[in-house]
Amino acid sequence: MPAIDGDFPLFTPYLEPFAEIQPLRERVRRVLEALPAAVQRDFLEDHRFCVALENYQPGKGWSVWIHPPDPSGEVSRCVVLKRKLADCGEAFATYVIAHEFAHAYLRNGGWGAITDREEAADHLAAEWGFPRPAAAP
Ligand SMILES: [Zn+2]
Repeated sequence: MPAIDGDFPLFTPYLEPFAEIQPLRERVRRVLEALPAAVQRDFLEDHRFCVALENYQPGKGWSVWIHPPDPSGEVSRCVVLKRKLADCGEAFATYVIAHEFAHAYLRNGGWGAITDREEAADHLAAEWGFPRPAAAP
């Protein structure tokens, strides 16, 4: 894939929500680029897949725009990431980001023999090179 400024240009739309938060943008980019090609394709070929920055405001809650489900029943997927992922430790942040992408890839379901969806997302994130750090910061 051709690179522009070190980015995979196809991922640019997924990085836009974090344009103002460079450390987070960089972390999301690093995780996206590390994903297996089949997973990258699964996201890129799904126009209902999106990535967003959580816009939580105390007293107001948060909102996110997602695409409506397809008439075929195919679900919409959106990975929503918190701003604080820019500030916490690198290994923990990339683990959380990969874990959330794993949920999206698994359509919030299990993985192989793993039926617990949190465990499935953890295992898949580890498979991609982002294991849960031994101790969270
Ligand atoms: Zn989870």
